[in-house]
Amino acid sequence: MSAEKTPIPLGSNFIRAIVEHDLADNKFASKKWAGSPGDATHQATGQADPAKIRTRFPPEPNGYLHIGHAKSIFLNFGLARDYAGVCHLRFDDTNPEKESQEYVDSISVAVQWLGFNWANGAESNLYFASNYFDFMYHAAESLIENGHAFVDSQTADEMRETRGTLTEPGKNSPWRNRSVAENLQLFREMRDGKHADGSLILRAKIDMASPNINLRDPAIYRVRRAHHHNTGDTWCIYPMYTFAHPIEDALEQITHSICTLEFEDQRPFYDWLLERLAEAGLLAHPLPKQYEFARLNLTYVVLSKRKLIDLVEQKHVSGWDDPRLPTLAGARRRGYVAEGFKLFTDRIGVSKADSWIEYTILEDCMREVLNDAAERRIAVLDPIKLVIDNYPVNQVEDCFAPNHPLKPELGKRVVPLTRELWIEAEDFMETPSKGFFRLTPDGMVRLRYGYVVKCTGFEKDAAGNVTVVHCDYLPDTKSGTPGADAIKVKGNIHWVSAQHAYAAEIRLYDRLFKEAHPGSGDRDYLNDLNPDSVKTITSQLEPSLKDAKAEDKFQFERHGYFVADKKDSAAGKPIFNRTVTLRDAWQK
Ligand code: ATP
Ligand code: MG
Repeated sequence: MSAEKTPIPLGSNFIRAIVEHDLADNKFASKKWAGSPGDATHQATGQADPAKIRTRFPPEPNGYLHIGHAKSIFLNFGLARDYAGVCHLRFDDTNPEKESQEYVDSISVAVQWLGFNWANGAESNLYFASNYFDFMYHAAESLIENGHAFVDSQTADEMRETRGTLTEPGKNSPWRNRSVAENLQLFREMRDGKHADGSLILRAKIDMASPNINLRDPAIYRVRRAHHHNTGDTWCIYPMYTFAHPIEDALEQITHSICTLEFEDQRPFYDWLLERLAEAGLLAHPLPKQYEFARLNLTYVVLSKRKLIDLVEQKHVSGWDDPRLPTLAGARRRGYVAEGFKLFTDRIGVSKADSWIEYTILEDCMREVLNDAAERRIAVLDPIKLVIDNYPVNQVEDCFAPNHPLKPELGKRVVPLTRELWIEAEDFMETPSKGFFRLTPDGMVRLRYGYVVKCTGFEKDAAGNVTVVHCDYLPDTKSGTPGADAIKVKGNIHWVSAQHAYAAEIRLYDRLFKEAHPGSGDRDYLNDLNPDSVKTITSQLEPSLKDAKAEDKFQFERHGYFVADKKDSAAGKPIFNRTVTLRDAWQK
């Protein structure tokens, strides 16, 4: 049975269906693996590949990873994990400019943070495409020798003019019929630095009349004097991405080369190139196959490294890990969790149809995971004083708050109750609106995990804001005691003992962009920045929060999920970032 004959169902993840299909067909039975990437001769020395499939995640180290990359990471690493395969982490560093070690490091950290590892036993499976420059060079010479490539002396403008259009064929370059010997000599001179940047270019010789413009003698090697972070000044010619990428896949014995839809039109060249190199004996069958899926577009964010670089360099944000950025470093500092990304990628699926995903779907996934994972704590974000006038001045009483309402096994912690408390300003209303069940001038409310109190008065400042609320407590009503329910009240408010509270810096983050589609309709996306995307406040937290460690995550009851900032927190003095509110405040 051949793979082509059985229809592949388009499921919620059509690439998974393709993999299952290929495995059922035993498509990779003859594939060998010599323990490291290499050409046909090298791989022939190996055993049958122990990895059932090989995928790769191939970032260019020219920026930090963003949420879109998470989709690709879960897809590539997830398939390898689910089908007894291996996923390589490959830095696609064939472009000498804009690449740096900082990016390499941040990418490795982000992939591990999402829960993946590229090592397989003794094999690291961490690769750098620039280590394949030698092979790429020889592959180019092989194409020349077999009449499949030529050196073009046309200028870039001339090449553009003769390329044709979608409806008109292109014109052959006047240099297309150079002899193999002349092409080889010129290509070697390019390598040896005898020609100026941009003066000569190596092109594949395919078909200037092809309806697919990518097959009209595409450029494959250019002269460029640039220092490379890995190979230094060894090379002054560099391969084009479209030439390098298929070769990288083939040397690494990748079975499924998964990329985003914009590469769909490159697939014929991908196949053409690998076939020519296989014919020449440089690569062995089965050759890798490319599959394209729709990239992730998410409302209210920009997922393009170039735009993210602008936001960082123009200081619209504090750095690559600013919690408002959709970088994985930023999401992590914001308190987003890897399991939330997994849920998200499972939920949105993998298809070939381009679409926009609502940001709230991602937030809901984080809420779902955090609701289960995060312990509850009490925080008064916008504090005013509550004085219990009939409570003894120096008394400190233990109240018991459950750490997680759905997980009694996580136990309870002690929160101290005293005469002076902090409560939320919004929990007292002098003239209550309809349906307001919290404190009012003559109302009663339960102090959560404590007593029922009755309001006896309040004080205001010069501006008319309530600053202190007075009340009396009803001694027999303590939560968890037999008399607790003797008096029924509708409202229940949270509080923190003023004497014990930890006054903390809290950062309330909101969306970085105020428009769902930043920069759409010819607007500059920078004009769509939300001017109020962060608000820093000082809040009163229950004392146990003073001991929170960097990246500890909590639900602050009634407010949302918060994380101890991993960068700015000091021991005994954590700063908290709001990850996400309990409910979506943006929904109309
Ligand atoms: P950008 O367009 O943001 O610069 P990129 O595609 O240039 O991203 P790469 O470093 O080349 O970034 O990406 C590594 C892998 O991540 C590629 O396989 C790419 O297809 C995938 N990827 C990048 N952006 C997205 C996205 N928004 N959704 C899904 N996959 C993506
Ligand atoms: Mg790219």
